[in-house]
Amino acid sequence: MTPDGAPVRPATRPAVDPRRLSSLPPYPLAGIPEARARLLAAGRDVLDLGAGDPGLPIPGRAVDALREAAGRPELQSYGFQRGLPAYRRAIASFMERRYGRALHPDREILPLIGSKEGLALAAFAALDPGDTALAPDPGYAPYFGGPHLAGARLERVRLGPETGFTVPPEAILDAPGTLGLVYLNYPNNPTGATVERPYVAACVDACARRGALLAYDNAYAEIGFAGYRPPGLLEVEDGLECGIEFHSFSKSFNMTGWRLGWACGSAAWIARLAKVKSFIDTGPYLALQHAGAAVLEDAEPYLARNVMLLEERRDAAVAAFRGAGFDLEPPRGALYLWMRIPTGEPARDFALRVLEEQAVVLLPGSALGAGGEGYVRAALTLPVEGYEEAATRVARAL
Ligand SMILES: *Cc1c(COP(=O)(O)O)cnc(C)c1O
Repeated sequence: MTPDGAPVRPATRPAVDPRRLSSLPPYPLAGIPEARARLLAAGRDVLDLGAGDPGLPIPGRAVDALREAAGRPELQSYGFQRGLPAYRRAIASFMERRYGRALHPDREILPLIGSKEGLALAAFAALDPGDTALAPDPGYAPYFGGPHLAGARLERVRLGPETGFTVPPEAILDAPGTLGLVYLNYPNNPTGATVERPYVAACVDACARRGALLAYDNAYAEIGFAGYRPPGLLEVEDGLECGIEFHSFSKSFNMTGWRLGWACGSAAWIARLAKVKSFIDTGPYLALQHAGAAVLEDAEPYLARNVMLLEERRDAAVAAFRGAGFDLEPPRGALYLWMRIPTGEPARDFALRVLEEQAVVLLPGSALGAGGEGYVRAALTLPVEGYEEAATRVARAL
């Protein structure tokens, strides 16, 4: 019986778990959130270096502008795909200051509800079922999930120390099948790998030869240490012709929960991505876009200070974990230490053991793909004083 007393109609066919969904692995955290919640509930002092969310203060203007915008009648309606013109103009101006190239605010920029959705939906803009998508392994989940849900074949490129944890451009040239889409991300989550402009140019060239879309995930574009400035497609000749670059407020401005980002690329690629999105979502809340514009208009002082704070954390974390027995190079960008597990234990076992025994959350590298086996990722989420204690605890588990 249903709650209102009507008889339930018998199913004539059992509900199926569609293979496209059931063949996706569980979202990559391997029991960590449950174990963490259990330890916290038991009153343990958990040190969380798991998720990439540093928790630093967000720009003051973001809150002021949102508060003001939240009361404006014209910002309460659907934003649709192209969103708020002032937001796109602020993005164009920020990108021109950053990379020295002008973007057309109406045709070459698309607001996103965070960059993750855009990265996943790029698969529907670029791939037919059976086409090949190439992604780094380990890598961010939407690089696998998007192409899989779009019915494409995945070519996973194992990252390792031999190539400095980068995808060799030859892997793009040699990928089997009809290559429709390539994901790249530098500074890289989780490995911390960084690249220079000639490498990006070689990848753009390889994608152009293969007729593939390059989805260049530049979520960490504004997190480079010791003066390092991560490159982007706008600095490379024809970079936008075969590429879409993805940007986000999440890491640059510590605004992970706001779900605000943008894509930029050639008018043709942006139109394709906008078409996909028009059947799936209706864009970020206009008041958020208004606040995003206010942040971008005066971004540079905030970004410089944010990098300084993260660099202090990086230096403290590297020193502490080296002292604990990990062999580490300081990353030049992003928010993570990528650490080989000295015991040779499987990453998931090690991370769960460190959590249960020492109450320290690390992300097992294998959670981001088989290529991450043997490593754990430690995010720069603790204040400078926290890493000595975290590393001492982890050392006890070695
Ligand atoms: C955090 C992160 C993003 C940003 O995702 P949002 O949806 O913008 O929050 C994108 N790519 C990678 C690799 C990340 O680690």
